[in-house]
Amino acid sequence: MKLVLASQNPGKLKELKVLLGHLPIELALAPKEFDPEETGDSYLANAEIKAREAARMTGELSVSDDSGIEVEALGWGPGVRSARYCDGSDIDRRRKMLQEMENVPEEKRSARYVCALVLADKDKVIYSTEAYWDGKLIFDERGEHGFGYDPIFKPDDCSMTSAQISPEEKNQKSHRAKAFNQLADFLQKQLQTKTHI
Ligand code: IMP
Repeated sequence: MKLVLASQNPGKLKELKVLLGHLPIELALAPKEFDPEETGDSYLANAEIKAREAARMTGELSVSDDSGIEVEALGWGPGVRSARYCDGSDIDRRRKMLQEMENVPEEKRSARYVCALVLADKDKVIYSTEAYWDGKLIFDERGEHGFGYDPIFKPDDCSMTSAQISPEEKNQKSHRAKAFNQLADFLQKQLQTKTHI
């Protein structure tokens, strides 16, 4: 079985190879021309746009994920707009978020990462799921690993931020790991029952 990852990011492909490595699946990145506009107003809608476009371009089974951070004190935003929360870099976005959260006490700093994942074949969605990683925003930056909001996010199941834990631990616990593990279970069942997808 061949599976195209609807992305141009080799780092994501590497991560997926670890998560689906136990399955007889050949993984590949989308072609260079792959550049769909993410116009959806939900993670699932954006993941669907990307997965369907990759499936259309390649004629192969394709998978896409879309993710973001949701903060209770920010009305559960920025959500699907996490990457565009403000102009500039990840550092600027973290600084803006910490400023907006400056006067929010510890008990009201709940946040979560969300990952939506869609599997598409031709023009059809054949599987979708959404997974979460609950935690809290801390008051300053800690850690050098990860990306995005990791230095200011402390998952409930960790004693440090998601930028302080090892990449291996993050790959076992994160929203993305949970969503891709659910996909792995789905694909494994399909392969076991020899259902043609
Ligand atoms: P996308 O799924 O690559 O579009 O990511 C959307 C945005 O959500 C990223 O640019 C980050 O700002 C944020 N985000 C999603 N997952 C993570 C994570 O695991 N760590 C830190 N930030 C994340």
